[in-house]
Amino acid sequence: MDLGIKGKRAIVCASSKGLGRGVAEKLAEAGVDLTLNARTEATLRATANEIADKYGVKVQIVAEDVTTETGRNALLKAEPQPDILVNNAGGPPAGNWSEWGEEEWLKAINNNMLTPILLMNAILPGMIERKWGRVLNITSGSVKSPISSLGLSNAARNGLTGFVAGTARQVAKHGVIINNILPGSHDTDRTKGFLERTAEAKGISIEEARAAAYAENPTGRYGTAEEFGAAAAFLCSQYSGFIVGQNLLLDGGAYNSTQG
Ligand code: NAP
Repeated sequence: MDLGIKGKRAIVCASSKGLGRGVAEKLAEAGVDLTLNARTEATLRATANEIADKYGVKVQIVAEDVTTETGRNALLKAEPQPDILVNNAGGPPAGNWSEWGEEEWLKAINNNMLTPILLMNAILPGMIERKWGRVLNITSGSVKSPISSLGLSNAARNGLTGFVAGTARQVAKHGVIINNILPGSHDTDRTKGFLERTAEAKGISIEEARAAAYAENPTGRYGTAEEFGAAAAFLCSQYSGFIVGQNLLLDGGAYNSTQG
């Protein structure tokens, strides 16, 4: 399917690996020129080269921490007029409610709520003027179904979700479409680390930990960055213009619910 976005330009935050890379690849496949971002320059450069070679699109990199003002300014300087913005960053650490003080809360709110909001604030006016734009925020399934140890994530990401709910409806009449995409468990470095920690804590092998985790999902597996990227690219496409302020859960049916 031609997504109708060939020649558009996208910023994809936190995209040298994992879900961000999955989105970048599918946008590139659709003919979108990319500004990719991550903190580690070597990995980012390797990803950018692979994507440019494979899909023949223009790819530039900004090796900065997107959760800092310096990082965001560098991104906006490299690509001041993106047609597509994909917000993403690492998630807050796991822990317990009793361990989190002001410092931990401010960091989580900055990284997973304020950073995407500030990027939207900077980019939405241009999209409105040009009468076309797509913004997609990678949040988490924990927005719908809390993971107790990820209280920082549950809360900060719900703050972003609240902002998007209202703002998406204010900008849609200008052809600017904002949605959120909510990953459940996907096979990325992040979940690899989680499985390693689980295996160590339970005294089992990583493969046993993986099999147990897979068995808990209705599909019997984790999601892939490729299928995540394809769904995300559709939400950034010419055909997503009537999908406004939604929260698309990609979790293999793990969230047990009759509706929604
Ligand atoms: P991942 O495989 O660890 O990849 C994270 C990517 O983001 C890397 O490219 C990393 O590169 C970059 N990154 C991290 N922090 C950054 C920062 N501050 N500034 C710029 N780049 C940054 O992680 P993932 O699994 O794709 O997860 C992506 C997001 O989805 C996270 O917020 C995660 O919490 C959320 N999520 C993931 C899952 C899942 O199952 N995978 C489920 C629910 C939610 P550098 O380290 O070089 O910066």
